[in-house]
Amino acid sequence: AKTIAVLTSGGDAPGMNAAVRAVARTGISCGMRVMGVRRGYNGLLNRDVFEMNLRSVSDIIHHGGTALFTARSPEFNTPEGVKKAADNCRDMGIEGIVVIGGDGSFRGARDLTKEGIPCVGVPGTIDNDIAASEYTIGFDTAMNTAVEMVDRLRDTTESHDRCSVVEVMGRRCGDLALQTGIAVGATTILVPEVPFDFQTDIINRMMFTQKTGKKHFIIVVAEGVGGVDKLAKDIEAKTGIETRATVLGHVQRGGSPTLRDRVAGSVMGFHAADLLYRGHGNRVVVMQKGKVVDLDITEALEMERVFDKHLYDIALRISI
Ligand code: ADP
Repeated sequence: AKTIAVLTSGGDAPGMNAAVRAVARTGISCGMRVMGVRRGYNGLLNRDVFEMNLRSVSDIIHHGGTALFTARSPEFNTPEGVKKAADNCRDMGIEGIVVIGGDGSFRGARDLTKEGIPCVGVPGTIDNDIAASEYTIGFDTAMNTAVEMVDRLRDTTESHDRCSVVEVMGRRCGDLALQTGIAVGATTILVPEVPFDFQTDIINRMMFTQKTGKKHFIIVVAEGVGGVDKLAKDIEAKTGIETRATVLGHVQRGGSPTLRDRVAGSVMGFHAADLLYRGHGNRVVVMQKGKVVDLDITEALEMERVFDKHLYDIALRISI
């Protein structure tokens, strides 16, 4: 029987387990052997691989993180590393791999395909920063966690008539900040995609809303903008309003995946295993116009992200 493998790589994301489960179940039901690889590309280099059965992926769909563990592998990220991984795959009889991760992991998948092991990428990252896909597994859970955390901050911000500057994750992508900012009613949302001016976009907005009676403020800042401690100090110095900075950090990566992430993981994992079964490699599974489709990895990696400026403008219009 044909043998395929599945691994999770780069930053973990809630819903990765649903994808692993779907790959294993789909592969086995198609009559393939499915190997689980531990700790991303490291597992290929160290041959840390085990054969999965239908029950290997039981009771993981509702857990955050990844049951296969994940890693960043500097050794794999070299031409020699990729060659060694491909040789190990040939030795272990692995004829195709589903790689669940972000665009760094997709570059690895493309390189491994070039070395003769066909790979299919599945977008798993809370950052939603894969240009080719409208949606990445983990984003919904992370947004909901961020909203819950900011709601908690809001209670205390409100009670003390304070300003709260909150940094959310997202690397170079402002999607998590934008969605969270709208959902918590932030006065200002700072994202790397839209340049801002301290005086006009922060201070003047705060002053304007203060005149109409607003007494407490939430400013959501994307990781890609950063600098929340300095920003908080500057705001306090300029307005006299007591201002605190909070970096939400890795809590946003954890937790039980939402329905959306379990379903996205399941459907994308199914699609990926089915592609390998039908002999297709060097593909990435993506969401486009709400549908799960697949694209050439190289083409997908060359695409550029489009930020939803229209949504950003709406957010600012109504946060007055
Ligand atoms: P993510 O997949 O979440 O973007 P990383 O960028 O850390 O996370 O990538 C995960 C792993 O993929 C890295 O540890 C490395 O082994 C591999 N990788 C990253 N970039 C490349 C690249 N340009 N070429 C080959 N492999 C890469």
